[in-house]
Amino acid sequence: MQEKKSILKHPILGEVTVIRKPRTRRITLRVRGGTICATLPYICPTALLEEILDNNIENLKRQVAATRQRVIDWDFTLKSPCFYLKLHRSSNNDTQITGENGAYILSCPATTDFSNSDTQQKLRNAIKVALRHRAKLILPKRLAQLAAHHEMKYSNVSVRDSHSRWGSCNTRGSISLSIYLVLLPIELIDYVLRHELCHTVYMDHSPQFWTLLDKLCGTSSKELRNQLKSYHTDF
Ligand SMILES: [Zn+2]
Repeated sequence: MQEKKSILKHPILGEVTVIRKPRTRRITLRVRGGTICATLPYICPTALLEEILDNNIENLKRQVAATRQRVIDWDFTLKSPCFYLKLHRSSNNDTQITGENGAYILSCPATTDFSNSDTQQKLRNAIKVALRHRAKLILPKRLAQLAAHHEMKYSNVSVRDSHSRWGSCNTRGSISLSIYLVLLPIELIDYVLRHELCHTVYMDHSPQFWTLLDKLCGTSSKELRNQLKSYHTDF
């Protein structure tokens, strides 16, 4: 059996992408780019999904609004303590990204048609290049600093265009970090890095894991975890 994709039209939430997978056991909802995506077991009745959607309307509406992709135009900027990007009218016909010290300029031809979806995708891809560039410069270095400070070890670090998670750590102690981390406040970047370092000791989210993370954060990590919920791996 292969996975099956369909669209469910919800009266309030609009179009919901439904993916039925043969090996999935649970219903999971994910909101990305202003769209709700539901993954469910192959034989799961659609009515069950509808009921879950109905019971979570307010929460889902909030997430849809928060993750809806912004239109990139001359007024578009991205600002965080370690990343800054703005657009600039270029004197030629090239779309180009330049930057140093975390400040990037996306140069676009003065005639750029921002209403064109291909153009939006092209600009989004260019911005991702800048995010990746910045992420590679600062995240592995910061992880090494924190690991040395807390006397913890990891085997490897990679930086990825990951939307599903801010970070992850596998059983071999290899840590993967999302390029979108550079859009977070510094204390939340550190929270994610410390979280992944704790996974080199405990692979689960057991009470021992949280105790260790609280110790590394020097404060209740729960508060930081709650703050992180208002950010999304997107822009
Ligand atoms: Zn975790």
